[in-house]
Amino acid sequence: MNVPLLDLKAQYQTIKPEVDRAVQEVFESQYFILGPTVERCEKNLAEYCRSAHAVGVSSGSDALLLALMCEGIGPGDEVLTTPYTFFATVGAIVRTGAKPVFCDIDPVTFNLDVRQVEARITPAVRVIVPVHLYGQMADMDPLMEIAKRHHLLVIEDAAQAIGSEYHGRRAGSIGDYGCFSFFPSKNLGGAGDGGLVTTQDAARAEKLRHFRNHGMNPRYYHQYVGGNFRLDALQAAVVDVKRPYLDGWSAGRQHNARRYDRLFAEAGLSPDVVRTPQHPHKTEGEAPDGMRHIFNQYVIRVPQRDELKAFLTENHIGCDIYYPVPLHLQACFADLGGQVGDFPHSEQAAAETLALPIYPELSDQQAQAVVNVIARFFNR
Ligand SMILES: *Cc1c(COP(=O)(O)O)cnc(C)c1O
Repeated sequence: MNVPLLDLKAQYQTIKPEVDRAVQEVFESQYFILGPTVERCEKNLAEYCRSAHAVGVSSGSDALLLALMCEGIGPGDEVLTTPYTFFATVGAIVRTGAKPVFCDIDPVTFNLDVRQVEARITPAVRVIVPVHLYGQMADMDPLMEIAKRHHLLVIEDAAQAIGSEYHGRRAGSIGDYGCFSFFPSKNLGGAGDGGLVTTQDAARAEKLRHFRNHGMNPRYYHQYVGGNFRLDALQAAVVDVKRPYLDGWSAGRQHNARRYDRLFAEAGLSPDVVRTPQHPHKTEGEAPDGMRHIFNQYVIRVPQRDELKAFLTENHIGCDIYYPVPLHLQACFADLGGQVGDFPHSEQAAAETLALPIYPELSDQQAQAVVNVIARFFNR
């Protein structure tokens, strides 16, 4: 059996008439940049993310850059974040001229280890960027408390976590800014690049709107140097059609995660052979304490990761590594002086993690096939 890591064609088949109609409407209007479709999408997503304001932007990467630019972060400033994330989190920091300061992850959740954060704060740190990796939120209460005590801003990298919840509060609604991505493989994906910044603060929202459009206000009068970070109407139209389905898709992903947990247990693959993710959806229904994991990825840990990946690929099972090189060891950041051993949990995760197919349309037979091939690998 052939099981892809992600099957966007299967999703498209379930909503094709609506998506096609929405795209057609944008073409009929010939209104392609910002405008009423973008405004409607922003309003609906602000509500969904339980944030007072939402500003559509060109990508998740630009969402992060824009939030940092709006706060005037630049040379001489430092921004604290995790080295175990997608490149864009740290790329945005470096592009402002600021310096990233890394803090290791909790090896169970893969998110910033909040117990280690305070010791990493230098006098130059102005912002903390927690990343809600794989769709599960970082431990926000203690993090916000630390930020408050040190007068730091918090920018949530929620690119993988739209609709995720922490004690009943949604990703992007807790920090000063929330940054989201509509990259097609995210849980709410567009038909190209797009992103969103949320904030509870009206002045920040207004500044974001100016910054995404060259710092312009009013037309052709520029108070700041922003950039072209605008969301286009086609992306907004597609995202707005898909948003009402998002909770159902997230429930499908949670169901698939539970099913994997069960199948791995039935296959006799104990936690020291295949470590399955810790999550609050072990049983059907409401998760305790209002915690909600939306499973952008279902990531297992195996010591023989590279061999298992090759075996799965040979057997037509899609899988991938998020991420093979922690950011303190990336060539482009060599001048920061990162060394092997600096962040051992991030380095170990980079060596052991493997993402399996978790998309909502994954069938029982497909999930069983994935676990069968993994069991076969270990019983060779
Ligand atoms: C996808 C992603 C981004 C960047 O989003 P793009 O829309 O691809 O620019 C940033 N941070 C994380 C954690 C991501 O997963």
